[in-house]
Amino acid sequence: MHFENTLAFASQLDQQDQLSRFRDDFHLLQKDGKPVVYLCGNSLGLQPKSVKAAIDQELKDWAELGVEGHFNGKNPWMYYHHFLTEKAAKIVGAKPKEVVIMNNLSVNLHLMMVSFYRPTPQRYKIMMEVSAFPSDQYAMETQARFHGVDPNDAIIELKPREGEYTLRTEDILAQIEANKDSLAIVMMGGVNYYTGQAFDMQQISKVAHEMGAQVGFDLAHAAGNINLQLHDWEVDFAVWCTYKYLNSGPGGTSGVFVHEKHANNPNLPRFAGWWGHDEKERFQMKKGFKPMEGAAGWQLSNAQIFPMAIHKASLEIFDEAGFAHVLNKSQILTAYLEFILEEFKEHLTIITPSDAKFRGCQLSIIVKQDGRKLFDFLESKNIMPDWREPDVIRMSPVPLYNSFEDIYKVGQALKNYFAS
Ligand SMILES: *Cc1c(COP(=O)(O)O)cnc(C)c1O
Repeated sequence: MHFENTLAFASQLDQQDQLSRFRDDFHLLQKDGKPVVYLCGNSLGLQPKSVKAAIDQELKDWAELGVEGHFNGKNPWMYYHHFLTEKAAKIVGAKPKEVVIMNNLSVNLHLMMVSFYRPTPQRYKIMMEVSAFPSDQYAMETQARFHGVDPNDAIIELKPREGEYTLRTEDILAQIEANKDSLAIVMMGGVNYYTGQAFDMQQISKVAHEMGAQVGFDLAHAAGNINLQLHDWEVDFAVWCTYKYLNSGPGGTSGVFVHEKHANNPNLPRFAGWWGHDEKERFQMKKGFKPMEGAAGWQLSNAQIFPMAIHKASLEIFDEAGFAHVLNKSQILTAYLEFILEEFKEHLTIITPSDAKFRGCQLSIIVKQDGRKLFDFLESKNIMPDWREPDVIRMSPVPLYNSFEDIYKVGQALKNYFAS
């Protein structure tokens, strides 16, 4: 696509943008009475304005109905997760029964590992990307220990080639094949939080299965950001949080995908609780765990209504906008940011892949000199990217609330900075 670095051009793209009206559905930030260009949707999505009414509804039912809100509330709490599964399933390319919303991400990652990481003396290795998000590193390390396996022996880290920042698909697949006799599971990010690289989950899943391993993905940076087809890709399980690209609030709830092929598998061990028990007899307080079919059978506790009410309101926006439109705008918006950043390539390097197939909306930048100083400068100009140690600035224009003019403003600030 042809781009120009002018305000007129950016405004024209905003006028042609089918999704521009959704910007108004969010609380956009201001600092000192001036608008902020928010580029941290990869870290915490902005608040949808509809969230307040959604929470108020549940507060009202609680105030007026007490415990009877479980059955007589407007959105009966007993069934609350049902109100989320269909829309969440669309975002990750799953069947509704393959998805459940519950808990938080790291908790769900452990719950899935309990079921899908079942090391034997022969097959016990876990493959993940090097420098994965720390929670994932700690989860894999302690899962190995929990099973009496030395993490230094069990964990295989996929590393980029010398002088490269991102992983090549061919290298990932070659590593899987090289470990075909000992690999128990591939558990990696769908989009790496640091580089913004999206992995070829379909290929990874296919080859890992051919080698007899299980496959799980942490989609914290992928859900709501890239096209996912978890069912068709035959991924065994996936987990994601909802407060990044899914705009569902700090500490918000999380999603879990378990492929249909495991929906009724009684041989999968799991840590169970009453909410995963057959809904029809949940309140009969019977002995003997009888799991619900599908992902719902992994629930432990009763639904967290408040974070879920937020998520429900947020998913309604995605549904209204149409996720395909969101993804389409995302590609153009990010390509525009890339075009603007390329003007400064003598000063900075974009480490995120330039091929749209291998990224979402995030671009990660390494500034050749004193990146922190540029970051602070941008903040002083009401532009809010985020900083990740040791040296990366992440910018994530989010299609539902960022505009092309936002990107133009980033370019103007960079021009000021590098001119001085
Ligand atoms: C954001 C993120 C987390 C955070 O985990 P929580 O349990 O939600 O605090 C974990 N893993 C990855 C890859 C993330 O990006």
